[in-house]
Amino acid sequence: MSDQSQYLKSSRLIAAHYGEEYEHYYNAIVPPVFMNSLNVFETLDDYYDFDRTDKHKYCYGRVQNPTVRILEDKIAALEHGVGALAFASGMAAATTAVLTACKTGSHVVCVRNAYGPLKTFLEGYCKEHMDVETTFVTGDRTEDFEENVTDKTDLIVLESPSSLVFSLQDIEAVSKIAKAHNALVYIDNTFCTPIYQQPLDLGADIVMHTTSKYIGGHSDVIGGMLAVKDEGLMKKLTANRELLGGIPGPMEAWLMIRGLRTMEVRIAEHQATAMAVAEFLEKHPKVRKVNYPGLPSHPQYELMKKQQKGNTGLLSFEIEGTTEQAAKVAESLKIFKIGVSWGGFESLVFLPHMRISEEECRELGGSQNIIRIHCGLEGKEALIADLEAALGQI
Ligand SMILES: *Cc1c(COP(=O)(O)O)cnc(C)c1O
Repeated sequence: MSDQSQYLKSSRLIAAHYGEEYEHYYNAIVPPVFMNSLNVFETLDDYYDFDRTDKHKYCYGRVQNPTVRILEDKIAALEHGVGALAFASGMAAATTAVLTACKTGSHVVCVRNAYGPLKTFLEGYCKEHMDVETTFVTGDRTEDFEENVTDKTDLIVLESPSSLVFSLQDIEAVSKIAKAHNALVYIDNTFCTPIYQQPLDLGADIVMHTTSKYIGGHSDVIGGMLAVKDEGLMKKLTANRELLGGIPGPMEAWLMIRGLRTMEVRIAEHQATAMAVAEFLEKHPKVRKVNYPGLPSHPQYELMKKQQKGNTGLLSFEIEGTTEQAAKVAESLKIFKIGVSWGGFESLVFLPHMRISEEECRELGGSQNIIRIHCGLEGKEALIADLEAALGQI
């Protein structure tokens, strides 16, 4: 491979050039989509002696693909890991990580505000089939982990900031506790992206991204990533991805590479817009509370500054009013479209707690009328005007 070390100096150079070998594809500036399911060999010995760790040797598309490899090399470099693996969805990445870290009878400590389907996987499948016990904690106090980790704990699941109420966990402190108990720390880093937070440097073991959000960035792809700092763990995850079969298709990997090229400039704009929107909402008389870690009023603002370099475009707020009124605000918005997911060019709104009990809401830290919005790239003036008009309806 041509000398790549010059590109490691900045995240922008990594996104633009790292991991790409122009000389292997006629010096095209954009790598091809290697749309092949297998690669052929000259002799049987070539096949049987094939070295899977060699970046220039490929065998079968469920194992590895050159387009997928470029994406993985870039994410590993951005996260300061020894390697990264791409997956067909964020959940394929998450479940492969859990199945690799846990065994029958394992104990898991998981933040209550983690991504819902991952909690369902832990409480459902892992409990039923592997006797895995999960303890859910709020996680904004480090003591939550200290008090609940046992010698049977194999995995601690973090999501910082979480993607509904935007609570943080002290990654460095939790990683120290985990290390003392031989447990692995897994963290969903989707909100920050590797540009604004690098958890491996803070002691975490497995960083997960759903590339369906900012890495894809255009709401046209589903995908996931894992990045790790330990060679042994990388080997186990690689073997399990091959067995569980979660590798993405080459076209999806190519779209993720394309999204990554502009991610840093996109998220700076998402952040500037979200900050302006959060400040507008915070001053609005019909808004009771705004959850955005970029606001100095966020209860963990100091921790945010310690472990993050920035925030992106997702935030939530609670109105002074009923759940019906919150629904009316969401449905009155014109530019913010009703939809789950986030991280694309477009602004979105959703009421994730609308149909769960107030008791359950209290546990999760946000009431039924909590409104989550993604601030897209349509411009802050348009978004603020849209919110102002919708809030005027109640
Ligand atoms: C969307 C999302 C996921 C799941 O990713 P998929 O690609 O939909 O499987 C996981 N974590 C967070 C924080 C998400 O927003």
